[in-house]
Amino acid sequence: MRPMLARTRVGLAAARATMACPVVLVPTMGALHNGHRALLRLARELAGQGDQRGDQRGDQRADQRGDQAGSVLVSIFVNPLQFGQGEDFDRYPRTIERDLEICAEEGVSVVFAPSRREMYPVEPQVTVDPGPAGRLLEGEFRPGFFGGVLTVVLKLFQLTRPDLAVFGEKDAQQLALIRHMVADLDLGPRIAGAPIHRDPDGLATSSRNVYLSEWERASALALPKALAAGAAAAGGGPKAALAAAAMLLDAASASDPPVELDYLTVADPASFVEAGPDYTGRALLLVAARVGSTRLIDNTWLTFGPETAAEAGSLENHAAHD
Ligand code: AMP
Repeated sequence: MRPMLARTRVGLAAARATMACPVVLVPTMGALHNGHRALLRLARELAGQGDQRGDQRGDQRADQRGDQAGSVLVSIFVNPLQFGQGEDFDRYPRTIERDLEICAEEGVSVVFAPSRREMYPVEPQVTVDPGPAGRLLEGEFRPGFFGGVLTVVLKLFQLTRPDLAVFGEKDAQQLALIRHMVADLDLGPRIAGAPIHRDPDGLATSSRNVYLSEWERASALALPKALAAGAAAAGGGPKAALAAAAMLLDAASASDPPVELDYLTVADPASFVEAGPDYTGRALLLVAARVGSTRLIDNTWLTFGPETAAEAGSLENHAAHD
């Protein structure tokens, strides 16, 4: 069944009133792909509808909570506040008809797809400050990005009043900052993270992958390969993991077309401060790079310490998923 489509705040309020609880929100910028589908499936599971694929784990989770079936709400909004000068706001893919079909296939109840004017009737004067973790890495390379993201997410929370909201680990720093915002500002929704979804060749699925030519895509595969190499070397500590990943990216910087690195780091997953040589516990190996005019980000979990173990499962097993 096609979801209800709300274009306005009034329409959203009317649609929201019909939704069964718990309401699970999945905020997106549209151009939905298999990575978004994975979020929608998790959202449906969390809403107590079980796993559509009949996966036992999902059914058990729903049963354990004893929930009534709730509903999934997807927002589709290319948020101008999070795009900097010279970024791809104008060319960002917009595919609303296909998005609605995907939402229908994934059992979404309501899609909120407001216009820019509906979302920002006036230029906002008050925005969210993402704090110190928001000034590092993506925050450094994309000034204003996280302020824009957190502001629109806060507005979406206010407008849709979800019980839960699902975000992807692909944007690990964004997910962590949303968790910080929810805790620091006493917001209502519980936050769930979904693992990174990868295309069969290993590249993290992204709406921006459509910009890549065949050759650019071949170069871009250096990112997941570097993360896998870093994860494989994690037994030697953060420095060894970083060095292994850097070696691959160094080589890729000389490929044709080249991979131009913005950053590669091993960081604490809450503060995003670089992990020192004695760091123990879970950490993220994070990379951002440009290939042609496309900017890509990716990451993987590592664990350092007594039971050092790389958690590169998603990198090694990606071919099994699609
Ligand atoms: P976007 O439409 O790119 O803003 O993404 C909407 C949500 O989907 C965000 O929470 C992203 O982190 C998540 N997402 C996008 N791509 C992936 C992916 N490949 N794996 C997991 N989550 C993703």
